Amino acid sequence: MQVGIILAQFDYILVGAGSAGCVLANRLSANPEKTVCLLEAGGNHLSPMLHIPAGWATNFNNPRVDWGYSTQPEPELNDREVYWPRGKVLGGSSAINGMIYIRGVPRDFEDWSQAGAVGWGWEDVLPYFVQAERQQTHRDDLHGNDGPLHVEDVRDKRPIHEVFLDAMQSSGIPANPDFNGQDQAGCGYYQFTQHNGRRWSTASAYLDPIRARKNLTVITGATASQIQFEGKKATGVTYDRKGKSSSVTGGQVVLCGGSINTPQLLELSGVGDGERLHTLGIPVIHNSPEVGENLQDHVLTKVVYKTHPDQSINREVQGWRLLPTAMKWFFTRRGPLTTGSAPVGGFWYTQEGLDVPDVQIHYASGATLYNNQGRIRAMNVPAMTAVVNQNRPESRGSLHITNTDAKVAPEIRANYLSTDNDRQCLIRGIRMLLNIFDQTPLQGYLEGRLSPGPEIDPSNDDEILEYIRNDASTTYHPTSTCAIGKVVDPNLKVMGVEGLSIADASVMPFVVSGNTNAAAIMIAEKAADLLQK
Ligand SMILES: Cc1cc2nc3c(=O)[nH]c(=O)nc-3n(C[C@H](O)[C@H](O)[C@H](O)COP(=O)(O)OP(=O)(O)OC[C@H]3O[C@@H](n4cnc5c(N)ncnc54)[C@H](O)[C@@H]3O)c2cc1C
Repeated sequence: MQVGIILAQFDYILVGAGSAGCVLANRLSANPEKTVCLLEAGGNHLSPMLHIPAGWATNFNNPRVDWGYSTQPEPELNDREVYWPRGKVLGGSSAINGMIYIRGVPRDFEDWSQAGAVGWGWEDVLPYFVQAERQQTHRDDLHGNDGPLHVEDVRDKRPIHEVFLDAMQSSGIPANPDFNGQDQAGCGYYQFTQHNGRRWSTASAYLDPIRARKNLTVITGATASQIQFEGKKATGVTYDRKGKSSSVTGGQVVLCGGSINTPQLLELSGVGDGERLHTLGIPVIHNSPEVGENLQDHVLTKVVYKTHPDQSINREVQGWRLLPTAMKWFFTRRGPLTTGSAPVGGFWYTQEGLDVPDVQIHYASGATLYNNQGRIRAMNVPAMTAVVNQNRPESRGSLHITNTDAKVAPEIRANYLSTDNDRQCLIRGIRMLLNIFDQTPLQGYLEGRLSPGPEIDPSNDDEILEYIRNDASTTYHPTSTCAIGKVVDPNLKVMGVEGLSIADASVMPFVVSGNTNAAAIMIAEKAADLLQK
């Protein structure tokens, strides 16, 4: 490989322009006295599929925008490998995600605080959620209405959504107009990180408006391969671009590569478990055995029913009908292409005595958006899908490098369903979904259960668990691989070295109750303040 030039000295080098990295690039470069370099392995967010909300799943396994990871065979999922998409483009995973805007519950952040993340309790983090948000509908102290991140209502509301919500209510789950309000529990419409029917990634929200700042240098197509150290002080980053190796130097290096790539880069650079690094021949800068450990994700499983053709969006997004559907989006920013992963759903308890909901439900009047190999396509039969995922899983996995080449993906072990509580929770979750589908409002809309197949007896725990083992997949929410208290201190500084911080989903001590994009953005908003102290 050719060696490139050493570029100028920056005050801050940010590695990764994802949900968190774009926020930091904006906030740190707001000070014209400071220079900021943002390195991103992917390219610009030009493809229309990164802006049409329903385009999200078409990006899967496209190496131009998706890292396309897979787990190792998962022991509790009958040794299946689970495909893990991750955004590789300006905006990162916020450019390819399902767009659902959920923050988690106050209890999550109190738990973070109890686990050693001092300064990350609910009252501490709420101002940063509010600061980020430009909320369309809710106007109260819990929401922000003038931040960069548009959070807007579902634009493609359909009668079948109301029918499903009626069925949820008949099953005992009350209506909730705002999952990010006083109480998360209940059912209703989600809100999306969207603006006028267009995806609103953090590249759209935070980066596009400030790309012209003279003190901000954005380098796309630049894959960081190593953090440079002098002794224990991080002094710069080496990256590969177009077959050439180059370096940037800086006062502060901030890793924003996400829950998979941030621990990978740390290990490649000599910060990780000393023995593991030694075996790979990597000189140890700092022995930090928790790097890559404590991995969490939300595991999901689903129920799919066949329905009438006019109740499912499957027909509208396939064949010749896709053309008018696309025209509708193009000219009016309306119709099914304005929808991310699921327009309705909710949060509820699968057993009594819980303080906070232990499952989340996503419903879409189509099938199937979820699979294991990254092949996403609408089913040929008209169908509707409800998904249940655990909100507060116990299972923890890990990911580690097995090779000194930055281009080789780390080995990911999610360890889904490795505790009995987690398995029982999803069994109860499936029963909760089946109970919703049994409610009166939905009768007349259902034409047979497709998944779990009709041969599976819902009253039999073993049969349900076996179905889950064969069906379960990721909700795309990996976190906690460089957790506060384990790898970074509460100020997000990597413990044991200097000049190196982390701001992305990897620092969450536990995965939050719900989708993780809003919390990743909040972390970066707070990190900007911490870095400038
Ligand atoms: C398919 C999918 C659906 C999802 N749906 C939702 C949803 O509906 N709602 C929700 O709240 N959350 C959702 N999520 C999760 C959410 O998007 C993530 O939790 C969040 O984006 C994580 O932010 P991050 O900043 O930690 O990492 P990312 O946003 O993944 O950003 C990391 C960035 O760093 C870059 N990078 C990595 N390594 C390097 C390197 N070595 N050199 C240079 N650059 C590098 C990457 O290319 C990427 O741009 C979804 C995620 C996916 C993948």
